[in-house]
Amino acid sequence: MNKGGGVKKMKYVLVTGGVVSGLGKGVTASSIGVLLKACGFRVTSIKIDPYLNTDAGTMSPFEHGEVFVLDDGGEVDLDLGNYERFLDIKLTRDNNITTGKIYQAVLDKERRGDYLGKTVQVVPHITDAIQEWIERVAMIPVDGQPGPADVCVIELGGTIGDIESMPFTEALGQFSYRVGAGNFCLIHVSLVPVLSVVGEQKTKPTQHSVRGLRSLGLTPNILACRSTLALEENVKKKLSQFCHVPAENIITLYDVSNIWHLPLLLRDQKAHEAILGALNLHGIARDPNLKEWTSRAELCDMLLEPVRIAIVGKYTGLSDSYLSLLKALLHASVSLRKKLVVDWIPASDLEDETAKENPDVYKAAWKLLKGSDGVLVPGGFGDRGVEGKILAAKYARENRIPFLGICLGMQIAVIEFARSILGLQDANSTEFDPDTKNPCVIFMPEGSKTHLGGTMRLGSRRTYFQVMDCKSAKLYGNRGFIDERHRHRYEVNPDMVSRLEDAGISFTGKDETGQRMEIVELPNHPYYIGAQFHPEFKSRPGKPSALFLGLVAAACGQLDSLSHAHKIPNGMAKKVSLYQNGNATKFAKIPADGIYSSCNGVHA
Ligand code: GLN
Repeated sequence: MNKGGGVKKMKYVLVTGGVVSGLGKGVTASSIGVLLKACGFRVTSIKIDPYLNTDAGTMSPFEHGEVFVLDDGGEVDLDLGNYERFLDIKLTRDNNITTGKIYQAVLDKERRGDYLGKTVQVVPHITDAIQEWIERVAMIPVDGQPGPADVCVIELGGTIGDIESMPFTEALGQFSYRVGAGNFCLIHVSLVPVLSVVGEQKTKPTQHSVRGLRSLGLTPNILACRSTLALEENVKKKLSQFCHVPAENIITLYDVSNIWHLPLLLRDQKAHEAILGALNLHGIARDPNLKEWTSRAELCDMLLEPVRIAIVGKYTGLSDSYLSLLKALLHASVSLRKKLVVDWIPASDLEDETAKENPDVYKAAWKLLKGSDGVLVPGGFGDRGVEGKILAAKYARENRIPFLGICLGMQIAVIEFARSILGLQDANSTEFDPDTKNPCVIFMPEGSKTHLGGTMRLGSRRTYFQVMDCKSAKLYGNRGFIDERHRHRYEVNPDMVSRLEDAGISFTGKDETGQRMEIVELPNHPYYIGAQFHPEFKSRPGKPSALFLGLVAAACGQLDSLSHAHKIPNGMAKKVSLYQNGNATKFAKIPADGIYSSCNGVHA
């Protein structure tokens, strides 16, 4: 194992997907990382997205799920969030490779004349650039320890055979040869469907996709087959024969009650043995230690007492759009021994317009909001649903319902306060009303170091607590400052701060200049907090993010004991008893991820 010294060879695990997309390749790859980490190795990861966008910054959450933000300001695919959460690491923007980034690097080189008059081609120039990128990025330490990791898990997005991914499959074929046997392990995630008429597990799609993989110069060491139930022995045998993969290297990823079971599922089927064998690591690995994962996965299944959190947002039809947010809520709920129930409320359904046009929808939305134990208004761009979010914030403030506003959600809370308490009827953000006479949220750009003309305040920035006697400072363990990730252009207008504070709201966290408001609180409310940053990106299973923990604790009436503990979250875990009297039957359907939703089919 690498302790930072000595020359050693990086080991690579490549995860590809076949048959269909959406097999959970990202979570599988993360779980493989968890398993290797449990065997004592340091693990890093790279996600390849074969699209032309340079990064995920411009992509709609409707289409692609949330844009995940890294410490360095990288706007990346949400799978990097899975890696960070599962492996407890911090990745860099370069850990997400896209076709756009590779072509841009090659074209920049070409313009500089670095190719010395040669014809620049996909093979070898693009394929070389891909391999160099992987080798370079794999060496970046991501776990806070010096020196490179032992193993790099590379996930190739998309499905084998896609036109878009061809340069990557070619490059990876060359790469496997270059790093050599014993340093490269290919895991192919595939689907074994069951035809309901005959109830038979069908192997043909997997056979075809493995054939496709081989024709591209890639040989799978392990097959990970998604199927509803465990694969039958004869099915494994057939796959083994046709795909030339030993039966013991064929793993079934059958449906589990929550995704934390996945590393356990892999371990139970001895996936680590197969990987360690392919990577020549048998001698130095320890038996996987997954105690913490096991107890968390089991605990999550046992939780009965629900805590209902209403998410009042824009993309409520697609849970991937708010993936990190859901995870952060889940981490907090599990640590407080509560079963998370998310009530999705499209913000515009709360607006007066909907009352006129679609009264039933309006009534249903308000009923959900009123039935919730806590309200969360997430980040967002664009003015759709803004008035509905303001109504939700007002409702939470006036009725003393625990409230957390994130980024746009914080701006909403300030606008609502200015309108209702200062009586400034047209108070608004200049993002939504450039001509407002009372701009309490204004454009406060920050020059980007990496994007020409970029104005977004992106990545990790420091927040200093202004007073220690406030809920947020206590939740963060009485630290003087915190580093959290940002992604926004607008902020609370510093010229309006004293007026707002005189009226009773308190800006308890600011940046180093004192000009940027980072945290806002209502001191006389059970829990009413807004944060200009996105704490959800740094929440981890077992280490829930402070403000989410506060929201959920307040929503179940436990905030006091939490603040008194001054410890997050372990001190808390011991204090809270396990509830036995919940109405489990009401939420009988077990979701894939431990998050229960009042909205059909929407869970992460
Ligand atoms: N649209 C707002 C801004 O740019 C909020 C952004 C966000 O919520 N991420 O400041």
